[in-house]
Amino acid sequence: MALVPDSRIPRRGLMLVLSSPSGAGKSTIARALLEREDRLAMSVSVTTRDPRPGEEDGKDYFFIDDAAYRAKVEEKELLEHAEVFGHYYGTPRSLVEKHLSVGEDVLFDIDWQGTQQLRESARDDLISVFVLPPSYDELAKRLKGRGQDSEDVVKGRMAKAANEMSHWPEYDYVIINEDIETSIANAQAILKAERLRRSRRVGLGDFVNEMRSHNG
Ligand code: 5GP
Repeated sequence: MALVPDSRIPRRGLMLVLSSPSGAGKSTIARALLEREDRLAMSVSVTTRDPRPGEEDGKDYFFIDDAAYRAKVEEKELLEHAEVFGHYYGTPRSLVEKHLSVGEDVLFDIDWQGTQQLRESARDDLISVFVLPPSYDELAKRLKGRGQDSEDVVKGRMAKAANEMSHWPEYDYVIINEDIETSIANAQAILKAERLRRSRRVGLGDFVNEMRSHNG
C-alpha cells in the first residue's frame, strides 16, 4: 500500500509501462522519472543480448544466457517475456512483486508484446504510455547518433521502427517526444493523475466515513 504524496489515503501500487521504437527517447524519460519521483522503482529485465558499453549487470539488465532464460520461462519466474530483435527479454516476477508489496509503483521499459501480456494480468493497475519520435528523420538521426550498434543493427532497427510504431493505439497515453523536458513533465503528469485515481485509493471509504461519523 502506498501513500500518495499529497494525501494520507492508502492506495494500490500501479505499474507504469513505457514503450517506443528504439531511439524515441524512452530511456531518458524513464531515467528522469526515477530521479524525480518518489516511491517509483524500475523493473530490471533479464535479457539474452550482450551488454553494450557502459551497461551494468543488475542495473540496466540481468544478462543471462539462453539456457538460464529457458529455465526462467519454464519455472514461470517471468511476469511477461518476448523475443525482440532476435534476443529474448523478460520481466522477473519476484522483483515487481517486492516493489509493489512495499508500496512502490513500478516502471517498465518493455515492448508492445510484453505490455499486452502484463495487461492481461495487471488489468486496471497497468498504465501504458507510448513514446513517439517527432518525425522519421529525427528517429533516424537518433539511432545513428547513439553509435553503440553496428550498421546492420541500426538498419534493422530502422526497418522495425515503423512496425513498432503501429502499436500506438493499444496504449493509454501517447507522448510525442519533441522536447525532452516537456516529455518528462508530461510523463510526470500522467503518473500524478493516475496516482490520484479514485478506484486505486482503497482508503477513501474509511477516510470519508470517519469524517461523516462526527455528524451522527
Ligand atoms: P534494448 O536491447 O535496446 O535494451 O531493448 C530492445 C527492446 O526490448 C526495447 O523496445 C525494450 O523496451 C524491450 N525490452 C526490454 N526489456 C524487456 C522485457 O523485459 N520484456 C519485453 N517484452 N521487452 C523488453
